[in-house]
Amino acid sequence: MKTKGLIAVFTGNGKGKTTSSLGLALRALGHGQRVCIIQFIKGSWKYGELESAKQFSTLLDFHVMGRGFTWKSDDIEKDKQLAREAWDYAKSVIEENRYAMVILDELTYLPHYKMLDEQEILSVLEKKPKEQHVVITGRYASDALIELADLVTEMKDIKHPYKNGVKAQKGFEF
Ligand code: ATP
Ligand code: MG
Repeated sequence: MKTKGLIAVFTGNGKGKTTSSLGLALRALGHGQRVCIIQFIKGSWKYGELESAKQFSTLLDFHVMGRGFTWKSDDIEKDKQLAREAWDYAKSVIEENRYAMVILDELTYLPHYKMLDEQEILSVLEKKPKEQHVVITGRYASDALIELADLVTEMKDIKHPYKNGVKAQKGFEF
């Protein structure tokens, strides 16, 4: 079997995309591997995991890039500029190759909402460091991203407590 850094995509409408990426991070950290998480939409990391992450601070770095994104903004050019800055940062993290795993949480929304040309993302992924794992989460993964990835899982929404009026539970949802 070949050894290689994988491109993984967690997409679909069901819950578990960000959660799955955190599970992979935990696994890599257990091997003493360095992990970087970049959150493209502010707030997708919740209190519970933010507190847990502090315990891995020597190996785990995370960055919130989503400040200012709304997708409904009147100022599209400003949003595009923020998306560009966020992506440029992620690109440098991948290329500098300081992490065994780079998680790009909610990245799919940038090309989906036309904040960023997806070709830019694909060309960085095509040339990523060979041993590095890159994990991408978010709804609406494109056909081209799915084609490029080594592993793609679609979370399918079958049941969610929200639909029965159950509010978000501590330790489970946040
Ligand atoms: P999680 O962070 O819990 O793994 P996710 O990354 O798969 O969820 P996102 O699309 O990023 O899902 O949305 C995050 C928030 O939306 C979470 O609070 C999650 O519980 C909620 N959510 C996700 N899927 C559903 C759903 N099918 N119905 C209602 N709420 C949902
Ligand atoms: Mg998510």
